[in-house]
Parts: sequence; C-alpha cells; structure tokens
Amino acid sequence: MSIRTDPLTALPSPLRLCTGCLLTVSLLSGCGGAPQQETVDSATRPSANVAASVEPVPDAMSASPSVFPLPEPASVRANELGDIPVLMIHQVEENARGDYAQTPEQFRQSMEYLATHRYVPVTAAELVTGDLDLPAGTSPVVLTFDDGHPSQFRLLPDGTVDPSCAVGILMSVAEKYPGFRAVGTMYVNERPFGRSDPGPELRWLASHGWEIGNHTAHHANLGALDTAGVQAEIGELHLLLAEELPGYQVRTMSLPFGIMPDDPAAAYRGTWQGVTYSYDGVMLVGAGPAPSPYSKDWNPFAIPRIRSWHGSIDLDEDYWMPRLEHTRYISDGDPHVISYPRTLGVEPAPHVAAQLHPY
Ligand SMILES: [Zn+2]
Repeated sequence: MSIRTDPLTALPSPLRLCTGCLLTVSLLSGCGGAPQQETVDSATRPSANVAASVEPVPDAMSASPSVFPLPEPASVRANELGDIPVLMIHQVEENARGDYAQTPEQFRQSMEYLATHRYVPVTAAELVTGDLDLPAGTSPVVLTFDDGHPSQFRLLPDGTVDPSCAVGILMSVAEKYPGFRAVGTMYVNERPFGRSDPGPELRWLASHGWEIGNHTAHHANLGALDTAGVQAEIGELHLLLAEELPGYQVRTMSLPFGIMPDDPAAAYRGTWQGVTYSYDGVMLVGAGPAPSPYSKDWNPFAIPRIRSWHGSIDLDEDYWMPRLEHTRYISDGDPHVISYPRTLGVEPAPHVAAQLHPY
C-alpha cells in the first residue's frame, strides 16, 4: 500500500473515498489530524515517523486504491470520456531523414512536453482493456513505435539499455519526472530492432512493462492480400513472438501503412498453420486523438493515431497536442469510477453505465 503525494489529491471528500481509504482514514485520524501532504525525502525523514510507509515519489500506476481521499472530480477537471493521444513513432536518430524520422533531441523534447503537461504513458494493451489507473489530474498517452527500428531500442553488450536509443531517452525522462512511466508498445516485424536473434531485446521489454505487438512478418500491405494471405502475415509474426516469448500474450497489432484488409476481422483474429491469434486492438496510422475507451465512439479495432512529428506535416503531434488541452482525458484517480463534466457532450459507452459519475 502506498500513499500518493500528488498535490492534486489534497482535497478530501467523503464521497470520493475508495475502498482502501476507510482503513487509512482511521489511521490518519488516530495520528491526530487531517492528512498531510508528505513531501519529506526518504533520506531525511525521521525513522520514527509514523508515516513510514509514505513513499516520497508517487508511482503513477501504483496499486489502487489510493489511501488518500481522492479529490472532487471537478477540482482536477476530471474527464474520463475525453480524448487520448496515441503517438506513432518511427526512427529516432541523428541526421534523421524522411517523413517519419525524428532526431533524439526532438524525441526528448516530445517526452518532456508530455511529462510537464501531466501525461502518463500507458501501453496500447492497457488502453484497449480500459485498464487506466492513473493519479487524479493526469492524462494517459500511448507511445507506439512501429517497424522495430534499431534506433528505437538497443541493448549494450553488458545488457543495459543504450541511453541514446528512444527507450533510453524515455527512461532518462522518466527518471527526471517521477510518475512518468517509461513504457510503450513496440510493433515489430520479422527482424525486431534489426536483430536476427531478438530474444534478449524482446525479453527485456516484456519484463519492463513494455508491450510487444504485431506489425506483420514482412510489413505487408494487407489491403493487397486475400484473407489467407493476411492471416499468414500476422500468424507468422505471432509465431515468432510466441517462440521468443513463451507464454507472452500479444494483445494488439498495428496495420502497416494503416491499410485495413478487405475483411477487417482478419487483422485481429485468424489462424495460420495451426497458429491462432486473437487481439483486442488494431492501430491505424492517422490522424487524430483516440476516443476514450469509455465513450460510445470507441472502436478498439480502428484506433486512430497521431504522427510523432514536429513541423510541416498536417495533423501531426505539434498540431494536436495544444488542441487537446480542452478535450483530453483527465483521470479522477479512481479506476472504478468514470467521471466527466455533464456539459461535455460525449456519450458514454453502454457497458460502463454503472460506473458513470457525471458532475
Ligand atoms: Zn510500419
């Protein structure tokens, strides 16, 4: 059990206590007062402090429920029917060329923008399963990396992450901004990260909270194949991942070129040479934010993405991120309740009716 120290959780409200709070409230009242925001560094905190279990750094995805009373949704502008940016990232390298490449410095600046604007990375699998347990006042962002380019992820000979690759940059940003998670989803093809033996890379990612998704074996145009061909492309890559990561469950895929097959269901469900795949989400290429997974507009099998790009391309990250300030998903801090302003004008999905909390 941890106590969150996010200042936005400072407003107690009996109506917003989650299940674990009751125990804590009695603990705190026994200490003779209202909850204090604990900001003492663990290195300087007196060992006799009764709040010894207080962690100075809030973990954005720490196990809920929070032990502090949650704030009123309105006080953090909670909007869990709001839009979620799913960024589509390709090469991250110096001397980047082409419409899809960016420099490491540009990528770092993107991540710093997200961290300083109260975004918290989640994986595509967490998005499609609606498993969004974020601190009150923060917003999810999904970082998706296509094509398994070596600039996205490299291990050094000693097994540590190359700090100059995208994952290494993300880790350094997460270290600088506690609560910002260094996770995302890697959509790979048959030679992930340029490696003929990608086992160490895939295992590292899977064991550090990253999701690995299917981007087909040969980066195929699925619109040009019949259904058997589509299933072969997806099934072959599915088999590769199953062999490298026994027991790992692949949850989502991204369409090469954003092209849907003639039978859209073949993108997420099929069989090839005895290999069966069944996914919960399909990523498109363009060109805007995704609806909340709790909104009526949500379709997990056609999730729009925003191209991570900085400049002249229409509808890219630099275009969308400022515009999302007024429509973005903002967490209320309670994963069991879906809070949103009554005036929002977004219709909730029928399956979440029992969890809704309009204000
Ligand atoms: Zn691709």
